[in-house]
Amino acid sequence: MNNSVGVDLKAICTIDHECVGCSTVAKSCCAKYDVCVTDAELNRIIPVLPEISKLCPHLKTDEGYANVFEEAEKGFHSIDTHDNDLCVFAYMDKGLIRCSLHSVEKNLGLPLGTVKPSVCILFPLTFSEAGDVLTLHDDALGCDCSSLRKKPSILISPDLLATIRHFGGENSA
Ligand code: SF4
Ligand code: SF4
Repeated sequence: MNNSVGVDLKAICTIDHECVGCSTVAKSCCAKYDVCVTDAELNRIIPVLPEISKLCPHLKTDEGYANVFEEAEKGFHSIDTHDNDLCVFAYMDKGLIRCSLHSVEKNLGLPLGTVKPSVCILFPLTFSEAGDVLTLHDDALGCDCSSLRKKPSILISPDLLATIRHFGGENSA
């Protein structure tokens, strides 16, 4: 990604964050939020459904694959969840809840973001309303993997730095 975006360093440097995966649905960000994908993201997921369904066999039907998207607003589609609110693209691996879209990218040797939706890559960061600044998600501290720093720091948590770089925020202030 070449376009650069602003980075709300003041907010982002207030937390430590490291995603080590969640073992329980109640704690997982994959169950806490409604995830919407764009038309373009939807069109990148559909072709790899055969790979995704190897990890998530519940997506297979007699006719092919379940339609797990519902149009939310023009150009956006929400992803279905199970009754326990967990995203249908999640699966268990070695006791941890994993994202099949992320795993498929790795398995196929694709760059991050080829299949996994931006909103999921971003968490606990998000774009500002205007879409030009990366900042903290309102509920960034709602998961155990993020915590408020006790002492001020100008260093960004490594996981968050990787996310910022992915979205082109490296040279922004
Ligand atoms: S970001 Fe946090 S809540 Fe989400 S899967 Fe990782 S550890 Fe769990
Ligand atoms: S698409 Fe992946 S990361 Fe996003 S909510 Fe679903 S399982 Fe979690």
